[in-house]
Amino acid sequence: MYDYLVVGAGLYGAVFAREATDAGKKVLVIDKRDHIAGNVYTEKVEGINVHKYGAHIFHTNNKKVWEYLNRFTEFNRFTNSPVANYKGELYSLPFNMYTFNKMWGVVTPEEAAAKIEEQKKEAGITEPRNLEEQAISLVGTDIYEKLIKGYTMKQWGRPCTELPSFIIKRLPVRLTFDNNYFNALYQGIPIGGYTKMVENMLEGIEIRLGVDYFGHKEELDGEATKVVYTGPIDAYYEYKLGTLEYRSVRFENEILDKPNFQGNAAVNYTDSDTPWTRIIEHKWFEFGKDEEGNELPKTVISREYSSEWKRGDEPYYPVNDEKNGKLYESYKEMADKEEKVIFGGRLGEYKYYDMDAVVAAALAKCEEQSW
Ligand code: UDP
Repeated sequence: MYDYLVVGAGLYGAVFAREATDAGKKVLVIDKRDHIAGNVYTEKVEGINVHKYGAHIFHTNNKKVWEYLNRFTEFNRFTNSPVANYKGELYSLPFNMYTFNKMWGVVTPEEAAAKIEEQKKEAGITEPRNLEEQAISLVGTDIYEKLIKGYTMKQWGRPCTELPSFIIKRLPVRLTFDNNYFNALYQGIPIGGYTKMVENMLEGIEIRLGVDYFGHKEELDGEATKVVYTGPIDAYYEYKLGTLEYRSVRFENEILDKPNFQGNAAVNYTDSDTPWTRIIEHKWFEFGKDEEGNELPKTVISREYSSEWKRGDEPYYPVNDEKNGKLYESYKEMADKEEKVIFGGRLGEYKYYDMDAVVAAALAKCEEQSW
């Protein structure tokens, strides 16, 4: 008999399992995939840690979370600065003085601010009500048209007027020459890969891989006093109140026989004609070198194609708009009544969580446990 059955070996599950085990509890972790680490899973290809389910750049302002993860891995000094490619024109991201200079030829922060203000006024926006209005009021119409509109439409499969404004607020806007994509005190990629980090978190804990929870639910539930479920909350309830919407991603991976394809880890294709949203060149997360410091002769790239999720696909992004928010609340009401089950993580809480927030949420949940 286990004290906890943890369904899903991703970040939430790994933190919970570690804390419970360290508190003396007996834990079983299961995952339907044949590997641990959920969507932060990395796999070595040609000496490069490939982010198999999309790029993950760890960043946080939460010292507690940073120190917690540093128990299991060392982080390198990678700083994310994606490049936007709009029909062959390259722009710096996030939106900063390099971007404004390239877009408008402005040189000073005052000139940039005046240009944004002028475009915002022309658009007549006072209180932004959706992503489009929010974007224009933050960076003006030109940047919205070239760097946001097409990318967002491809990424979410919905026009910017139908998306919540918080999505664009993830990106900083700066009147300084600072290409760091995140406003975070701590940032980096686990040396040796995320899989290794999660492996260290799960050390000494029983794990069963390739196990479909719903295929053996009664049996598995019978083995544990409590269940920590990190899969999609609507799937847990067999979609009985309706299906929550997710975005899925398809990756086209290629090994190229050259050392450098795009000179950066992430290049976003922000026009609406290019079918992929971005290309990740994984070696640049680790400065193009293997663990011994040798330059790598080949490179691995992944083109990301975003699609609407349907049953059977892997869910990646919850679509946190009003409609889905309401449906989620109804599921949450049911979840709150469960005495035996804890729901957590991006899918369990239907929330566009970053990694650090997932770790923080799992640690907070552990603190609530009476162990
Ligand atoms: N975004 C954009 N253009 C870009 C990058 C991002 O319009 O070049 C918008 C887009 O709506 C995206 C959101 O900003 O969904 C958040 O971007 P982020 O890079 O945080 O997304 P993630 O890495 O989580 O996919």
